[in-house]
Amino acid sequence: MSTAAFIWADRLAGYRFTPEHPLNPRRLQLTVELLQRLDLIGGADAPVVVPRYPDAGEIEAVHDVAYIEAVRTASADPVPRAGYAAFGLGSEDVPVVPGMDDAARLVCGATLPAAEWVMSGRVTRAFSISGGLHHARRAEAAGFCIYNDLAIAIRWLQRHYGCRVLYIDVDAHHGDGVQWLCYDDPSVLTVSLHESGAFLFPGTGFIDELGDGDGYGYSVNVPLDAHTEDASFLECFGALVPDLAAHFRPDVILLQAGCDAHALDPLTHLRCTTRLYERITRATCELADRHCAGRLIVTGGGGYAAYTVVPRAWTLVWAALRGLEIADEIPADWCRSVRLESGLDIPHVLRDPPDAHTPAPRRQEIEANNRRTVNAVRQQVLPLLTGWGLAF
Ligand SMILES: [Zn+2]
Repeated sequence: MSTAAFIWADRLAGYRFTPEHPLNPRRLQLTVELLQRLDLIGGADAPVVVPRYPDAGEIEAVHDVAYIEAVRTASADPVPRAGYAAFGLGSEDVPVVPGMDDAARLVCGATLPAAEWVMSGRVTRAFSISGGLHHARRAEAAGFCIYNDLAIAIRWLQRHYGCRVLYIDVDAHHGDGVQWLCYDDPSVLTVSLHESGAFLFPGTGFIDELGDGDGYGYSVNVPLDAHTEDASFLECFGALVPDLAAHFRPDVILLQAGCDAHALDPLTHLRCTTRLYERITRATCELADRHCAGRLIVTGGGGYAAYTVVPRAWTLVWAALRGLEIADEIPADWCRSVRLESGLDIPHVLRDPPDAHTPAPRRQEIEANNRRTVNAVRQQVLPLLTGWGLAF
């Protein structure tokens, strides 16, 4: 069993745009309620840690001052202004709403203590469930993301501990913001497995995006076919990530565990189950144990089936982080109250049964395509790994 910090305060649910916006913070509260109901958070082994506000320097380590100023102005006076579009503000994805600066800062201030608690050795793992805003760029909001809490944590890890960071992103969308922010940095290896940009926002994350300058070879992408299922996703992860970790030798691993690759997610076309998130988290824990004394920081991310998927997927992530084998059954009273709130049928088990969703059409073709993709990635990246001075 590992000690793990859970970063949470109810005000983190204040990161919300409009009532109709797909990023619904109820998903966070429901996950916390389920974890509490299952008695999985709190106590010496699983402390709940409150977020803090980052200082200006921590945000400015990643974002341009002019952009931060635009977010602050928009937040205080949320009326349409001509200059906002250049910063990605006021779009359908990132509408301008009151208090958005404060809410976005607090999310960064949740992922930072996750890093602090792990690096200080108070815990081995930490879960910043509200974090994972991986699309935000240096001077541009994108894809529901204002400030990039992941990149801000990476800069903090570098500045305070000189860390080499292995960043793994299994959100269904390409982890573009983190990739571009670290694109020329050889001390950060970014690995993103996602639905191919040929089908899905943000339209990037192809295998030839390998990094720039000194960072060439430190950006790795696995664009998956639409309708990819658990087995193929896991096969690709297993064919690549352990080798990358072994050769990169990270000081800490940061995992973005967005759960929108699930078959019920309304925004993507992958067909995974909640089991994927337990398996990926376990596999990443093993890598952290093998290479960096267990140090693993996990964030949330995407996940738009707020009632039927997210609480189950992230409960499995948290249990796996703690090294717990938890029962499948979800308390009936929790399911009942979520059903009443949402009007949806809520599964009574954490792990979707294998036949929960209709099988992907052309399953074998999809698996073969993904295998070809991951082999091509290996062929491109492994010679570069050798270039790092390590025999492969
Ligand atoms: Zn996503």
